[in-house]
Amino acid sequence: MSINTPATFDSHNPVTGGVIGVYPILSESSALSAVAQARAASKDWQTLGFSGRKKVLLAWSKILIDRVDECAELISRETGKPTSDAKLEATLAIGHLAWAARGAAEVLRTQHRRPGLIMANMSAIVTHVPFGVIGVIGPWNYPIFTPMGSISYALAAGNTVVFKPSEFTPGVGLWLAETFAEAAERRDIFIVITGLGDTGRALCESGVDKLAFTGSTKTAKKVAEACAKTMTPVILECGGKDPVLVAADADVKTAVEYSLWSAMSNAGQTCIGAERIYVDAKVSDKFIELFVSEAKKITVGAPGSANYGPATMPSQIQVIQSHVSDALSRGAEAVVGGLESIKAPFVEPIVLLNVPEDSLAMTDETFGPVIAINVVQNMDEAIALSNASRYGLAASVWSKRHGEKIAAQLQCGMVSINSTISFAAIASVPFGGVKDSGYGRIHGPEGLLGFTYPHTIVRTRFKLPVSFTSFKRSAFADKLIVGIVKALHGRSIG
Ligand code: NDP
Repeated sequence: MSINTPATFDSHNPVTGGVIGVYPILSESSALSAVAQARAASKDWQTLGFSGRKKVLLAWSKILIDRVDECAELISRETGKPTSDAKLEATLAIGHLAWAARGAAEVLRTQHRRPGLIMANMSAIVTHVPFGVIGVIGPWNYPIFTPMGSISYALAAGNTVVFKPSEFTPGVGLWLAETFAEAAERRDIFIVITGLGDTGRALCESGVDKLAFTGSTKTAKKVAEACAKTMTPVILECGGKDPVLVAADADVKTAVEYSLWSAMSNAGQTCIGAERIYVDAKVSDKFIELFVSEAKKITVGAPGSANYGPATMPSQIQVIQSHVSDALSRGAEAVVGGLESIKAPFVEPIVLLNVPEDSLAMTDETFGPVIAINVVQNMDEAIALSNASRYGLAASVWSKRHGEKIAAQLQCGMVSINSTISFAAIASVPFGGVKDSGYGRIHGPEGLLGFTYPHTIVRTRFKLPVSFTSFKRSAFADKLIVGIVKALHGRSIG
C-alpha cells in the first residue's frame, strides 16, 4: 500500500457474511480537511437564509421519496432488515427532513423580549445563531432515520454537516451525501466520511462546533470525553432499557400486538424498543398467554422471507447470549425460545418470565429479540421498577383511564400511551433521553434550537436621567433602584 492510498474496510451482508462494499478508512487529516471544507461552505449556506435552505432541503426530500425503493434496498442489504421496514424507516426520516425545512424559520425567528421596568429604556432581542459545522456520528440499526434526526435539523438551522456513518452501514451514509449533492448542487454542505471508530474519534477532535452522536453509552462517554478537551458541545442519544407498563384496565389484545412488535421488530435492534414488560397481576395471565401465542408466529430470516432479519452486528450475538444465559441461571423461565433460539446470524424470539431485576437482561441493553415479562401488583410497583434502571430513554403505557398519570411519573425522555414508539414519527416533539440514555434533544423545535446558540442583543432606546452602570451613579439612583425592586418584588408571597 502506498502512503497515499487510504486503508479500507469491507462492509458485509449480515445474512451471508459476503463482502458488499469496500470503503476508505479516512484518517485524522481527512476528517480535518472535511471539516475545513464544510466550514468554508458554511457562510454561503447561512446566507441562503431560511427560505433558500428550505428550497434545497425540500428538493432533497423529494429526491429521497422518489428513490425510496432504492434507499430501502440499500438499507436492507447493509442491515439485513426487511425492505418494508427499511421503507418505513426512510419515510419517517423524510417526514422529519420536511418538517425541519418548513419549521426552521418560525422556530428560530428573532424574538423580542420585554426588558422589564428597570431596563424600560432598552430593547432586547434574541437571535438563534447556527453553530457552524456539526459533526454527526451515526449507528447502524436505523442508518437513515437515526442520523437524519440530527442531519436534517442541523442543516435546516443553518449549519453545514460532516457525517461519519457506522462501519456497518457506510453505503447508506454515502448515498445520502450523493442525493443531497443532487439537490444542493454542491457537496461541501453535507459531507460524509467513512471509517472505523478512530475516524469517529478524529471527528470529535476535529474542531467541529457541536457533535451529535447516536450509539452505545460506552462510546458516548468516550465521545463526550474527547469533545470536552475542546469544549465542543455534544448531543448524546444512547441506548435504552425501555419498559412497557400494562395496567389492569389495558386493552390487552392491542397491548400484546404492539409490545411484541416493539420488542422483536428489526431483530430487537431499536433503542426505543420494548426490553422489559411490567404487567398488572389482574391481567397478567391473559397478557402472557396471548403474548406467547403471538410470539410463536413470528418468522425470522433473510429479507423478503420473514418478519425480521439477522443481528446486523455479529458481536451482538454474544451480548444476547450472555443476557439470556444469565437470566436463566438466576431462575427466569423461557416461555418462548431460549438459548437454542440463537442461531447466528439469526435470533428467534425469546420471551422470558420472572426475570430477576438485577440480572443483565433487566439492567443492560440487550438489543436483540428478547423480552422480559415480570408481573407486578399495581402500577406504583411498575413505575418504581421502570425508574430503577440506569437508562431513561422511552416507555410505553397501556391503560384506558390512567395513562397520563402513569406517564407523568416515568423518568425518561418520551412516553407513548396506548401505542408504541409513536413519538418518533411526530416531528414536532423532541427525542432524547435522561440518565445513561444521554442528553440533548433531536426532532421538534428543541431539535432545531439545539443546533443553534442563543445570541442576545440589547440596545439603548433612550437615555435615562439616572445611570446605574456608571461610576457616576448617585445616591438617588441607589435609592431609586432599591425602591423599584421593593415595589415590584418586595411584597410578593408565593
Ligand atoms: P457504538 O456506540 O460503538 O458505535 C456508534 C457509532 O460510534 C459508530 O459510527 C461507531 O463507528 C462510532 N464510534 C466508535 N468508537 C468511537 C469513538 N471512540 N469515537 C467516536 N465515534 C466512535 O455502537 P456499536 O455499533 O458498537 O453497538 C454497540 C451497542 O450500542 C449495541 O449493542 C447497542 O446496545 C448500542 N446501540 C445503540 C444505538 C441507539 O440507537 N441508541 C444504536 C446502535 C447501537 P464504527 O461503527 O465505525 O465503530
